[in-house]
Amino acid sequence: MRILAIETSCDETAAAVVEDDCRVLSNVIVSQMRVHSVYSGVVPELASRCHIEYMLPVVREALEVAFGGEVRSAGFSLSSHEKVRSAGFSPSPGGEVRSAGLSPSPGGEIRSAGLSLSSPGENRAKASTRIENRYGIEAIAVTRGPGLIGSLLVGVETAKTLAWTWNLPLIPVHHTMGHLLSVFCELPEGQSRILEIPPEGQPASAQWETIPAASPIRPIGPICPIGLTSPTAPTRPTAAFDYPYLGLVISGGHSSLVRVDSPLRMRLLGSTLDDAPGEAYDKVAKCLGLGYPGGPVVDRLAAEGDSEAFALPRPLLHTREYDFSFSGLKTAVVRAIQDFGGLARLRESETALKDLCASFQAAVIDVLLKKTERALKRERLRRLVVAGGVACNRGLRAEAARRLQSVHLVFPPPVLCTDNAAMIGAAAQYLPPLPRSEALALDARAGWELP
Ligand code: ADP
Ligand code: MG
Repeated sequence: MRILAIETSCDETAAAVVEDDCRVLSNVIVSQMRVHSVYSGVVPELASRCHIEYMLPVVREALEVAFGGEVRSAGFSLSSHEKVRSAGFSPSPGGEVRSAGLSPSPGGEIRSAGLSLSSPGENRAKASTRIENRYGIEAIAVTRGPGLIGSLLVGVETAKTLAWTWNLPLIPVHHTMGHLLSVFCELPEGQSRILEIPPEGQPASAQWETIPAASPIRPIGPICPIGLTSPTAPTRPTAAFDYPYLGLVISGGHSSLVRVDSPLRMRLLGSTLDDAPGEAYDKVAKCLGLGYPGGPVVDRLAAEGDSEAFALPRPLLHTREYDFSFSGLKTAVVRAIQDFGGLARLRESETALKDLCASFQAAVIDVLLKKTERALKRERLRRLVVAGGVACNRGLRAEAARRLQSVHLVFPPPVLCTDNAAMIGAAAQYLPPLPRSEALALDARAGWELP
């Protein structure tokens, strides 16, 4: 089934086209990293606004990558008489940006986000509203949760609108399920676009218009600053990988250990009780004055430090079986900075900063891998997938490979580890669509538990 998938659970606005066997025709991600870096963390209100602004341009970009330049001239068309600029949003004369919703113009035509809904008949109100779907899209998939509610709502409402306009089935997807099934994505070279929001001071709409339509948002190169793998590197682990397996999903918002017996049979074994590991990386980096996001920079410095220089705790290592807790570790880092004589002194030292990063990272990795090893053993599993933004961590990848040599271990490429819509499209291949009568009533669920 050819699926157009949408993901907006946190701070990536993403759309993808995915076909049978999880073959990814396009995978477009707009990172809001620049917007949130000022605040050293994701600001939910800003995330929602960015999603609204970029959602439809990203959908169009995903269609363009998948089907070439036909998108503008085909079903996803701009109205010609009233020029809608930049497919996604049209600055009104007052400078206000209207987007995401359908906005009826005085003439009765529904203009929205690059979708032109004009019907040819005389009686426009009665004529069946028809938007051609020339790409053979057969269903719309969307992340329903868990995540930030304002962010999720943008994706869900966009997906509902597209499903309604194209008269297609709608498939709600659990975000963690997407990460767990990303291992089956076949991602041919050149199908990913990682884009970044323009610098502050340059309004997105202005920026948008000055850049050639084919690349409306600035590419940022490898999504993972540590440059593990090119985001366009092809991947095809499908043939060699199979059920059952253990999944470790670790990101800024999640840490979950899940037993996966089939796409429709998953069991949550444990999760974080407080901060997720990515959140801990970001907070520790903030305490160390290292900027945002913290993961890549701490990872880089840790590689040059002594992981035994600072004695840091391994929270919950021997209790709560498979649950995690990382907030105490962050507090221990704060205390270590104080004990050293403050941040200024620590940063003056040539090695202390690197040593503290290495000690922190070793503690995180130790807890993650010990719990994972325990779960593999008790659940009698020999396959492991590690996904989510923290799975980009070089230290974790190396240590997991060293400790888990008898396990079939897969880290998806970084472009599929960070939040993306390709994994949502892949998961949707296995899920039932909503009955048509329920599609328009679909809600977003911030705290949705793994079904
Ligand atoms: P979410 O948007 O749900 O937080 P992402 O999958 O986008 O999840 O992951 C972002 C998180 O991953 C951030 O907290 C970031 O610090 C972390 N991260 C990214 N790269 C690395 C890395 N190399 N090491 C550790 N953490 C990383
Ligand atoms: Mg993110």
